[in-house]
Amino acid sequence: MHWSDEKAREAIKQKGRKQTIASGISPSGPIHYGNFREILTADLITRSMQEFETKTKLIWILDDYDPLRKLYPFLEKDFKKHIGKPLSEIPDPKECHDSYSEHFMSDFLESLPKLGIQPEIYKASEMYKNGEYAQATLKALEKTDEIKKIIENITQRDLPKNWLPFNPICKECGKISTTTPTGFEEMEVHYECECGYQGSARIDNGEGKLPWRVDWPARWTILDVTVEPMGKDHAADSGSYDTGGEIAKQIFNKQPPYPIVYEQIGLKGKGEMSSSKGIVLTPKKMSKFLPPEIIRYIITRKKPKRHIDFDTGFGIVQLIDEYQEIEKNYYNGEVKEEEKRTYELSQPTSPSENKPLQIPFKHLVNAVQIARDFEGIKQILARTGHWDFEQDEEELKRWVKRGKNWLRWFAPEKAKFQIKEELPQEVSELNNKQKEFLSHLVQKLEENSFDDEELHQEIYQIFKDLDLGARKAFESIYIAFLGRSSGPRAAWFLLSLDKEFVIKRLRKASNE
Ligand SMILES: [Zn+2]
Ligand SMILES: [Zn+2]
Repeated sequence: MHWSDEKAREAIKQKGRKQTIASGISPSGPIHYGNFREILTADLITRSMQEFETKTKLIWILDDYDPLRKLYPFLEKDFKKHIGKPLSEIPDPKECHDSYSEHFMSDFLESLPKLGIQPEIYKASEMYKNGEYAQATLKALEKTDEIKKIIENITQRDLPKNWLPFNPICKECGKISTTTPTGFEEMEVHYECECGYQGSARIDNGEGKLPWRVDWPARWTILDVTVEPMGKDHAADSGSYDTGGEIAKQIFNKQPPYPIVYEQIGLKGKGEMSSSKGIVLTPKKMSKFLPPEIIRYIITRKKPKRHIDFDTGFGIVQLIDEYQEIEKNYYNGEVKEEEKRTYELSQPTSPSENKPLQIPFKHLVNAVQIARDFEGIKQILARTGHWDFEQDEEELKRWVKRGKNWLRWFAPEKAKFQIKEELPQEVSELNNKQKEFLSHLVQKLEENSFDDEELHQEIYQIFKDLDLGARKAFESIYIAFLGRSSGPRAAWFLLSLDKEFVIKRLRKASNE
């Protein structure tokens, strides 16, 4: 059984047939693919539950009332003055949105519908300002001693003597991380701030917020959360899920949500994705070189606790091959049960009736580099049996765009080449045997019409007969067209080019 169906079934067993699946983020920087794993996991569970006739609600909570914690490398120096203020109250560093948090949220939110994810969105800043937290906050303040005991017992750390579960926002300097509450009465918390200001904050209109360890269980209660994916840090021993669970049960009379712990996503050769370290790949950028179903597939195919090391180089070629293989089997009816489910859950909506266009990515990017225009790309793919002019041209256009972007941003040097307009100078380095090989090859090409496999066999036959090594033989072909010693698979490459051009070029190279 697919892991998502398994988890969904367990959660239903525990929580019943009405479920709210929550995911959330603190928008302190670019929201990357590692963060996306959380909301996609929530989306997958939601879909699985729908299969089991369960009423579901998928929600996404933006923790935009969290403070800016430090000057991240992507921020200008003068943003230092905003450290400690809630993210929703800080200006947009790029000056294109209403606030810092809106800026980083909007890119991410825009990419979600195309990926098939449509959550209900909640913003912590609005929930606090609208008084939605008021009741829970009052209860927490009244039960300060019990909450303090829970946190101290579980974390084995002492909280300050006059600790209160409320962080006021200073009315003078606007910071939330520099205030210390000194007491509370009715709906107000008194505080002093490092800036010297002393005052009081109402608890029902956004003049402060609960600290995270209390905020989280309060939110489970307010939004009736039943399932929530979470990163390892929250789920760690004595982490916020542990304390939150006890606070939820003892203070708010609510069972904590069914947890799904997920691992981080790394960028191969760079480390774990982290916006504060600048190791970032956003879903928006990914959608410029991968289709939505594969962006979902990368996460869907692995259990949440398994680490993903994402390789944007040749790994992309393998990834697409792997996906297309499953897709082929899916439409052949030869797919294994779990892969079938992985395929279904990877679709932004549901699988299409007919098998989608499939072109091996390696061929596609080669064709893109050989052809002068879109017509040329179609001709090449048709010559090599990957296009029949009846297929979905719009989809091919999208793939061409993806191929071009991959070549521009990520393709290793080995994957890139350019056909030389004139005979490359490097041809002068070919030895006599290599030239002889090329002239035999020309002859065969003139006399026959090969397919990919036949030409491949023929090339082998020719260099064997000449007692020329494989490396030397292939090198002579690449040098004749690319001016370098390596390139795409030779038979495919020769067939993808215009035959007359190939014959002319090879003859010229062999006579040089
Ligand atoms: Zn902006
Ligand atoms: Zn202050």
